Amino acid sequence: MPAVERRGVEPVRKGWGMTYAGLVKTWATLLIAILAATLLSTMALATGAGAQAVGCTGQVVLDPGHGGTDPGAVNNKYNLKEKEQTLGVAKRLRDLLENDGYSVCMTRTTDKALSNNDRYTYANTTGAEVLVSVHMNGSTNTSADYTTTLFGKWRKDKALANTVFGSLSTLPAANGTGTIATRTPYSFASGVLLKSNMPATIAETVFITNDREGQLLSDGTGTRQQQIAEALEAGIENYLTTH
Ligand SMILES: [Zn+2]
Repeated sequence: MPAVERRGVEPVRKGWGMTYAGLVKTWATLLIAILAATLLSTMALATGAGAQAVGCTGQVVLDPGHGGTDPGAVNNKYNLKEKEQTLGVAKRLRDLLENDGYSVCMTRTTDKALSNNDRYTYANTTGAEVLVSVHMNGSTNTSADYTTTLFGKWRKDKALANTVFGSLSTLPAANGTGTIATRTPYSFASGVLLKSNMPATIAETVFITNDREGQLLSDGTGTRQQQIAEALEAGIENYLTTH
């Protein structure tokens, strides 16, 4: 738009010596340019709105990490894929939050590949108060296991990351003694965090590659997944009631 206006003004200012027909022609060209630009921007807005009209509004957006061609971290010994575990935990978490009266939107509910752009663009259409991206960590060291959360913008995200970290830290350790080890929340330049317009955090809940976690996550009972979902639920509800 600014380019069109600049181009339009120049010939008119120089055109005092023009014939009347010349001026009319200049103005007609300018008008057509403005109308065309207005029409194009209206069409662009309509297309954008249509593409984003997924129809979910809610207080919480849950973002199960990875999906489709991106499995995330894997534990081959126990046949575990992060993309499946994050979806399972996120669905349990959605049910827990909804049972407590919170409205929830999810970036995916199936095994679907999503870009970071897809995730924050969707989140920004929901009007949600928080975005929690659910992940599991991975390492070549099969004894590595701790919980942590990541934040993008200090002022926007840090309090949520801290609160969710606090509740994840109560998870029982996979070996059955005490609680899970922790790593203090740290900043991470992810588009999901930086470009979402609500407080957001990436929860690296447990290490899927840890041998004991692998046993628990694959034991068929869903107990470990439910523990993780309940820990996330406590952190999210704590944040929402205090902010
Ligand atoms: Zn992940």
